[in-house]
Amino acid sequence: MAQTNVDTELDNVNNYIGGDWTEASGSGSEAIVDSAVGETIARTTFSSEDDVNRAVDVAAEAFEDWRQRPVEERIQPLFRLKTLLEEHQEEMAEVLVKEHGKTKKEAMGEIRRGIENVEVACGIPTMMQAGHLPNAAPDIDETAVRKPLGVFTAITPFNFPAMIPLWFLPYAVATGNSFILKPSETTPLTAQYIFELIEEAGFPGGVVQLVNGGKDTVNTLLEHDDVEGASFVGSTPVAKHVYETAAANGKRVQAQGGAKNHIIVSESSDIEFAVDQTISSAYANSGQRCLANPSAVVHDDVYDEFADRLAEALEDYTVAGGLDDDADMGPLISEEHRENVLEYIETGEEEGAELLYDGRDVDVPDDGYFLAPTLFGDVDPEMTIGKEEIFGPVLSLIRVADFEEAIETVNQSQFGNAASLFTERGAEAKQFRHEVEAGNLGVNTGTAAPMAFFHFGGWKDSFFGDLHAQGEDMIHFYTDEAVYIERWPDA
Ligand code: NAD
Repeated sequence: MAQTNVDTELDNVNNYIGGDWTEASGSGSEAIVDSAVGETIARTTFSSEDDVNRAVDVAAEAFEDWRQRPVEERIQPLFRLKTLLEEHQEEMAEVLVKEHGKTKKEAMGEIRRGIENVEVACGIPTMMQAGHLPNAAPDIDETAVRKPLGVFTAITPFNFPAMIPLWFLPYAVATGNSFILKPSETTPLTAQYIFELIEEAGFPGGVVQLVNGGKDTVNTLLEHDDVEGASFVGSTPVAKHVYETAAANGKRVQAQGGAKNHIIVSESSDIEFAVDQTISSAYANSGQRCLANPSAVVHDDVYDEFADRLAEALEDYTVAGGLDDDADMGPLISEEHRENVLEYIETGEEEGAELLYDGRDVDVPDDGYFLAPTLFGDVDPEMTIGKEEIFGPVLSLIRVADFEEAIETVNQSQFGNAASLFTERGAEAKQFRHEVEAGNLGVNTGTAAPMAFFHFGGWKDSFFGDLHAQGEDMIHFYTDEAVYIERWPDA
């Protein structure tokens, strides 16, 4: 394996451009912090405009050769990457835990979901085929073809540093494009690790680039004439900015934003199962997941039982560093974010929600940015904690009189990333599937995360664009279609 600096404390993160590791030459930097102990472990140095321009130039040049390579040849480094990711997943998970804070089990799960995308992209020779119709008109055969476009970029958030870059990279390069990843400046070590494996997998220089930085790096990429398209995953205000800026600069763009998802608990549901799934959905990754369900909309008939069982189960929830085998949940990403979440809890109390389980009273490790799970009851969806994305371990229970009111409550959210329903009634499941306004829907599953061969994307303020991440949508995003019309009058 190539020389790595991921486990060398206090080393800077490097860019990977044209097949070489280079130091970024911009002026700003960001500390990478082990949130379980509150210690800086490395720094992200930001790229200068020149660094970004060089990455785009190199990628544009590499594209000219890469696009001509047979598709079978383009997927060989992906097969090797899959094997390398599997061989190194344990070590990579430890890097991920260190820079992010999630538990090792969550990190391993996330890496597995990333590998799944590499596997799906290995099927590009079939997926990229379009259509052919002989004798589409007199003496005419017609063939649809899909062609790669050039340089694509993906800008990714802190909360899934392994999986989210892999929603994009494998499909971009397998379809014949070249690619630039701009990972979160808060959690770039996992991306650096993946790029060390990418180097070993043997992609030709310039096909994949890693460029570190913050918002200036993003804006330089979005305004660059030679970048054909951008994928974004992050908060809603930045998603809107990326969508608008990329579109104003003539690029195709898909921008995934924030979320405030709901679980509906029908009076027909298996309450014990629903409690178990709700806890995992709301609190895994300390609630820092776009698919977390931080609101449970519960039928009045089962509300008290559901609330009591939840509060009781939280007594056994273990908050500890992510490498601790007993940890159910690790710390939040930063002290600043912990303060934000604490402010939401205070606001919840001020606005009259009932505090059923107060995570602030629970003993957690002294160092680091820990906060135990918190549970509010009788939340009104119009309260601040009922409608805003908190992105922390805070679950709100909303009491409803019937199923109609439950669906209305879910649909009144400005967001539409995901929703889940716990029920034993097929008719409710059907109504839920037809009427709920969200992109990822789960029935009797707390976290509606599609496999990589299905697309992933939200609705409303959770997504800007049309083609989503993962699966077949990626083929359409990364290619342009042409129809080839052929006539041979002598034939
Ligand atoms: P963020 O929006 O702060 O940052 C995401 C990326 O945007 C980073 O790479 C960052 O460098 C860049 N960025 C930040 N500010 C920018 C600006 N002003 N201009 C240009 N670029 C900028 O998000 P985050 O805090 O890293 O991640 C958490 C958010 O991501 C949550 O809102 C969460 O719901 C969302 N998220 C959504 C999905 C989804 O699929 N919808 C998945 C994961 C996370």
